[in-house]
Order: sequence, then C-alpha cells, then structure tokens
Amino acid sequence: MTGGDMMELIQELYPILRSLTGDGVRETLSILARHNPIEIHEVPSGTSALDWTVPLEWNVREAWIRDPEGNKIVDICESNLHVVGYSIPVRKRLSLNALQANLHSIPEQPEWIPWRTSYYEENWGFCLPHSQREALQDGEYEVCIDSSLEDGHLTYGELFLPGESDRELLVSVHVCHPSLVNDNLSGIAVSTAVAEKLSGSNRRLGVRFLFIPGTIGSLTWLEHNRETAGRIVGGLTLTCLGDSAPLTYKRTFGGKAEFDRVASQVLGELVPDHKELDFYPYGYDERQYNSPGFRMPIGSLMRSRHGRFPEYHTSADNISLISEGQLEEAANVILNILRTMDQNRRFRSLAPEGEPQLGRRGIYRAIGGGGDPETRQYAMLWLLQAGDGFHTLLDVAERSKIAFGDIHAAAIVLEQHALIEWC
Ligand code: ZN
Repeated sequence: MTGGDMMELIQELYPILRSLTGDGVRETLSILARHNPIEIHEVPSGTSALDWTVPLEWNVREAWIRDPEGNKIVDICESNLHVVGYSIPVRKRLSLNALQANLHSIPEQPEWIPWRTSYYEENWGFCLPHSQREALQDGEYEVCIDSSLEDGHLTYGELFLPGESDRELLVSVHVCHPSLVNDNLSGIAVSTAVAEKLSGSNRRLGVRFLFIPGTIGSLTWLEHNRETAGRIVGGLTLTCLGDSAPLTYKRTFGGKAEFDRVASQVLGELVPDHKELDFYPYGYDERQYNSPGFRMPIGSLMRSRHGRFPEYHTSADNISLISEGQLEEAANVILNILRTMDQNRRFRSLAPEGEPQLGRRGIYRAIGGGGDPETRQYAMLWLLQAGDGFHTLLDVAERSKIAFGDIHAAAIVLEQHALIEWC
C-alpha cells in the first residue's frame, strides 16, 4: 500500500460511526479484512476484562435535534460526532434551557464540533459548533436519539503472522473513534499497510496485529491471552501518524528495553528530527501492556501528541490534517523497526583468537555486493572484535555508529564464511 492507498482507506472508513462496541467497529474490521486475513473476535457483554467488564453493546440508528419551527438543526447524518458516544435512547420535547445541559461545544473553536463520550455513566447528549449553539432561539426543542444499549459483544480484530521462533512482536491500534482521522484512522491505515507488506516475507519473530477498542479492548485481550502476552518481546501502539509533526517515540515503562534501543537506532538513521519521550501513564493501550502485572515492552509511535494539538477529538481532525507522505514515512519507519528487531541477534566469533585473515578467505570480494565496501569492511572488523557471545548486532551498531543495515549485511557475509555463528 502506498501513501495514496492509505489515504483512500481512510476516506472509506471516515464516515463510519465507530464506538467501543457496535456495528461500526464490525463494518470497519470487515473493510480491513479485505487487505489482511484478520480474525474477528466477538466477546460477550459482561465478560471480565481484568478489573473491568465488557460493556453493553451500543448502536445508534438516528440522532437529531429539531428547533421550535421543526427544522432538523443537528443530525448525525451530517456528522457522527454530533451524538455523545454511548448516549442512552431519548425522545422528548424540552426547553432550550433544559436542552443546554446536554449540549457540548468549544467556545475557543466556535466552528468545530467536539467529540464526547459517556461510556461508563448513563447519559445522553449532542455536540455542535459553539457558533450554532450561541444562535439557538428560545422555545421548545425536540430531541431524538434512537440508540440501543444492550447485551451484545465487544468486537476486535487480530492478525498473526507467524515466525520461526515462538517469540512475537505486537502492533496495536485503537478502532473506537468515529469520524476522526489523525486519531486514529491514520494508525489503522498505517498498521494495515505494515501488515500487508510483512505478510509476504519470512521472519524469525512472529508479528501480531490488534485492532481493538481503546482501553477495554486491550484489557479484554490481556485477560484472555496471558500466555501470548508473555511471548511478546516488543511492540508499538500507533496513533496520530498523519499530521505534519515529526515522528515521536514514547518509550516503554522501563525505557531501556531492546525495543527502545532498536526504535531509537532506526529513528536516528531515518528521521533525524524525530523526538523521544520517556514513558508517562497517560495515552493509549501502552499503559495496559506496560502495567506491572504484564510489563510488556510496548512503546508508542506518534506525531502530534494526543490532547496536545488543537484539532484533537474535534471535527477539525479530518482528512485535511494529514498527508500521504507522512503516512508513508511512518509505515516505513515501523517496518524498519520490526525488521531490525527481527534481525538483531547475539553472535559469537568462530575465530576469536587474534584477528582472522580476511583476505585469505575471499571476504573482501564478497562484500562488493551492496553498500559501501569500506563501511562493510569496518563493520566486519567491529563484529569480529565484539564476537565474544555477549554482544548483539545492535550493540555493534550503537558502538561503531555504523548503520544497523550495514552491520547486519556484514554479519551475514561473516556467517556465510563460517567466521561467526548466532547464539
Ligand atoms: Zn482519542
């Protein structure tokens, strides 16, 4: 998938009314399943999810407000942000004054519709531009939210690309936001592109992709997949990957995991202006994966930070906020991080006493293949010097300041000439 393909996928997913549960998530996953063979899981309401419980399933057919003249002035057919997520059903007439308690707008951004939810408290409401709210006339209004909140399922998608080893990497994105693009259709599209790209190749480490509703989805998955969780050696949550800000990596809780070092190495090589942040207990599902009972080394990749850009969770988080190039760069960086994790191994020199004579083995000719021969030769000397069985390729890349790809290519040549072995 190119950046253009990712944009197209985002345009297709944009109008769907998603929430923690419901048919919008199902429709989204069925579209994603056209790209990758995603397994779709349905978890019944009431199922335990660690300290939480899978909620009732929410669906909404119509939601609108009519003014005193009977005109529909707010309607989810125009924007699905208009209805507060998880609104209980309501159909009544009420005064403007009474209606105000159930309206939400942003005075500082009077033309934007905010996105609000009330997942864990029974409530109903509408979101609208502040300028429209200010212009409402006194009188009797009619409101209708034709929703259902009943026993059903939490739906999530999972895709597993097996590797030779039973250890795995994880890529997790939330699929619970309605018409919001950067947060998080960008993450969904990038994850889909990465999965599609990886599915054609062989790998040492398995790669697992989760398309889940935020928080409750990862809690549900963790409770019912403890063994799999224990096999995960690194991974990422993906969010806000399409805007114009440079890529930002949020480290795992420990901050010094192999995955943190790999992410830093790859970003250092590919995105000189990237940023790195220490873990903080706010954000997306990395909070659940890194919790003390699991401590999975899961970082997060983003551009703008959630809550720190003005368009966040408003109707202004639309297609105009993102670009093809940014999506493509993000996908490329993630592929490189996953590949580097896959290729990073401990190794041992098979000629550890003194310096082996490379010329005699025809190795100088072997390195002509790709890249700069001088760099490759220097990379070999570093590898042979470091080959005591305690160091990884990443250790050598970090210490030598040679790109990981050159270190890996040199290691392959040494392995082919029986000068190193993997441990
Ligand atoms: Zn969000």
